[in-house]
Amino acid sequence: EKEYKIVILGAGGVGKSSITLQLVQNKFIEDQYDPTIEDIFKKELFFQNNYYSLNILDTAGQSEYSQLRENYMKLGQGFLFVYSIESRTSFLELLSHYQQLLRAKNFPQEKSEKALNQSIPIVVVGNKSDLDYEREVTYDEGINIAKNFGDFPFLETSAKSNINILKAFEILIKQIDSNVENS
Ligand code: GDP
Ligand code: MG
Repeated sequence: EKEYKIVILGAGGVGKSSITLQLVQNKFIEDQYDPTIEDIFKKELFFQNNYYSLNILDTAGQSEYSQLRENYMKLGQGFLFVYSIESRTSFLELLSHYQQLLRAKNFPQEKSEKALNQSIPIVVVGNKSDLDYEREVTYDEGINIAKNFGDFPFLETSAKSNINILKAFEILIKQIDSNVENS
């Protein structure tokens, strides 16, 4: 069994807790959870002939300097970067989360994106794909931000309709696996 630490990052209200709940408990709750709760969840997965035990930190917005998050960012082996397709603001906020992660990992800002891609497994996710009629961010913009950050995989998800949720984590596991093999 492989045990991986995963961190869910993104603006408040984009669906981080909903994505986590959908993966861990297969359910969706319409109301927003307490936006200040930051917690760790466990999920066991069987994928590509391996057992995985995921420890998932569902981050919350209160403080950029929350010690739990800082530590988890340092120890985290894979990161899900989440925005909502119906919020351009949340899309633009990805950059500051990305920079926070680079700082936490003590990653030199001037190092090339390619090198970064090989050292930090990230998947970029545009959530709330069921709200297409309220869309503020195109699919291509999502692809491009993932590419610009460092050639990371991108996909649109819906925690509400359970679309691509498991897949997002499977792609992230693949990223972590290849990262672990290369190190
Ligand atoms: P967080 O602050 O990032 O943890 O966001 P939450 O998971 O608390 O979700 C914020 C709000 O968006 C809640 O009302 C959720 O029900 C709603 N929400 C989350 N994911 C989706 C989704 O995929 N589709 C739709 N339509 N609503 C969602
Ligand atoms: Mg939350």
